[in-house]
Amino acid sequence: MLELLLRPREERRLLEGHLWVFRDELSKIPDAEPGTLARVVTRDGYVVGTGFYNPLSKIAVRLLGGDVERVDTAFFVERFTAALTLRARVLPGESAFRLIHGESDLLSGLIIDLYADVAVVQMLAAGMDRHRDDIVNALRTVFPNLKAIVEKNTMQTRKKEGLELREGGIWGDVPEFVDIIENGIKIRVDITTGQKTGYFLDQKVNRRVVGALSPGKRVLDCFCNVGGFALNAAQQGAAEAIGIDSSQAAVDAAMANAERNELTNARFVKANVFDDLRQRVDAGETWDIVVLDPPSFAKSRTAIKGAIAGYSELNRTAMKLLAPGGILVSSSCTQLVSESMLLDILYREAARLKRRLRLLHRGEQAPDHPILLAMPETQYLKFLVFDIVGT
Ligand code: SAH
Repeated sequence: MLELLLRPREERRLLEGHLWVFRDELSKIPDAEPGTLARVVTRDGYVVGTGFYNPLSKIAVRLLGGDVERVDTAFFVERFTAALTLRARVLPGESAFRLIHGESDLLSGLIIDLYADVAVVQMLAAGMDRHRDDIVNALRTVFPNLKAIVEKNTMQTRKKEGLELREGGIWGDVPEFVDIIENGIKIRVDITTGQKTGYFLDQKVNRRVVGALSPGKRVLDCFCNVGGFALNAAQQGAAEAIGIDSSQAAVDAAMANAERNELTNARFVKANVFDDLRQRVDAGETWDIVVLDPPSFAKSRTAIKGAIAGYSELNRTAMKLLAPGGILVSSSCTQLVSESMLLDILYREAARLKRRLRLLHRGEQAPDHPILLAMPETQYLKFLVFDIVGT
C-alpha cells in the first residue's frame, strides 16, 4: 500500500481524531490515481491511519478511522450496518433518515440519505467516487428491500477533487417521487428536482419544537422549502401558517404537501424573504412566531462577513414583526458561523431595536447527523428559539 510521510509535528490533530490530512502537512505529494488507498505514517514509523489519497485536493488524505487493510463491498457493509444500528437507536421508526454523515461515520466524503426504499448518495471525494460499485452493492446487501439508488453528485466541491458533476439513477428503477412520513406528516420527496438529497432531514427534531409552540398561533415560516416548519405548525393547530420560499418548485411542493395532509391552515407564497419581510414590516403586520431557516450564507472564510450581514438583517427584520411574547426561531446551517457568533448577532440586533430576547431552547442537527467532536466541520446546524420579553 502507498505510504505517505507526514511532515514533522503534523500528527497531533490527527492523533486527536481529526480525519483530514492537508496537502502541506505531507512531506511529499507522490503521483497516484485520485482516491488511492494510502497509509499515513510519521517519520518514526508510527501509522496514523489509512485513507483515500488525492494528490489534486487540498485535503490530501481523508482518513477512514484506523488502519484499514482494504476497501471493498464488505468494508462498506460493515460501516453501513454500524451506521444503521446507531440510527435505529437514536431515531427509531423513521421512514427517512441520514444513514451516512461523512466523517461522523468515519466515511469522509460520503453522504447517504434513505427515503423509504430509495437511497440517495453523494460522493464528495475521489476515494468514494472510485468505490461507487462497492457502495451500491453494500447498500443492496444492508437494505434488501431497496428499490433504487440515486446519485446526486452535483456539489461544486467535487471539482476540487478533480471530479465531474453527475446525477441520476445508478441502480434499480428510480421513482418520480417518494412518500415519507415525518413527525406524522406525509411529505412527498422529489428525488430529482428536490434540493440537497431531496429533503432537509436535519431539521426533523427542530420542526417538532416549532410544532409544539404553535397551537392557536400565527406562524411565518421563512425559507420554507417544501413546507417543513409551516406544516408542523399547521398540524399542531396553528391559527395560520404561511411559508415563504423563492423557489416555485418548493412552493408548489409545499402546497401539495398541505393538501395531502388536509391542512387548510397552511399557505405558501413565492418570494424573496428579504424583500417580503420588509414589506410585511412596512404594512404593520405582526406575527406570533417567525421562523428563519436560510440557506448557507458562506462556504468559505472570505464570505463570513457577508454571512453575518445577512443574518443581522434577517433577524432584525423578523424581530420587527414580533410583539412582546412573540417567538423568534433563528436557525443557521452555515458551518463557519458558530452558535456563539449567531448569539452575538442576535444580541446586537435586539439591542439596536431595544428588544429583550430570552433564549428558550437551543437545538442542532438531528441525531442521524451526528457530530464527531474531533471534527468541528461535522457540526453545522444551529437552532435557537427566543421569546421577546417585556413591553
Ligand atoms: N426550512 C426548510 C429548509 C430551508 S433550505 C425545511 O424545513 O425543510 C433553504 C431554502 O431557502 C431553500 O428552499 C431555498 O429555495 C430558499 N431560499 C434561498 N434563498 C432565498 C431567498 N432569498 N428568499 C426566499 N427563499 C430562499
